[in-house]
Amino acid sequence: MTVTQKLLKIFLVDKQLRGLQSRLRTSEKYLTEQSSGLKALEERQWSLEAQARQLAASAAERQGEVARLDEKLLTVRGRMESSQNHKEYKSFLAELNTYKADRDKAETQALESMSKSDELRAAIAEVEAQREEKAKIVVIATDERDRRMMEIKDRLQELQRERDALAADIPKDPLREFEQLVRARGDDAMAQIEIQDRKRHEYNCASCMMSIPVETISSVLGSGRLTLCVSCGCILYVTDEDAKRLQEPAGKGKGR
Ligand SMILES: [Zn+2]
Repeated sequence: MTVTQKLLKIFLVDKQLRGLQSRLRTSEKYLTEQSSGLKALEERQWSLEAQARQLAASAAERQGEVARLDEKLLTVRGRMESSQNHKEYKSFLAELNTYKADRDKAETQALESMSKSDELRAAIAEVEAQREEKAKIVVIATDERDRRMMEIKDRLQELQRERDALAADIPKDPLREFEQLVRARGDDAMAQIEIQDRKRHEYNCASCMMSIPVETISSVLGSGRLTLCVSCGCILYVTDEDAKRLQEPAGKGKGR
């Protein structure tokens, strides 16, 4: 068997490996997207909850201030009632008005904080519902990924063993060249030489469809060295069936 024929075997195994792994990659990509969506919702919820805590603390502080000022107002009113003269009364009244203004201000702030806190609570409930939905999707996506992994695990190992055995039988240099081509071109790393018209020596590369000179055919059939398509750079091969036909004298048979 020529190196090209050996590489073709490995190429077909690699194709199956890539096919299996690409299905797994699709479900892994979906899982990653859903997980990061979940993380974003969790962070949003934490941030809203932190804001809500801050507002609740500030509302409590303002309410405490209202209560303190209420006590002061009570005290000043008592003093006003027992004031001895108009001057004293007027001075208590001024004090009373200052406390009143401070109290109203603190009360307004407390109410504002509470109303903002209500808005936040509604937003938190909404985010929480979204987060719970997303968490369910992540569980399903994880199961799907695991299921696919289990499904292909044995087949992957089997193909990998097959590949290792094939690779062990191929000289290092052509194997490396082949692997570089696969990385660059994937499923187009190798292409069959198609026979268009044998009598007229018309052949073409199945990957780029460009025509291939007859010397190239001889090179693929004869030396067994790697022969690349001059147009697209893929490794050319001839199927066993075509190789047999090409080795018969031209003009025999159907002569296609
Ligand atoms: Zn080509």
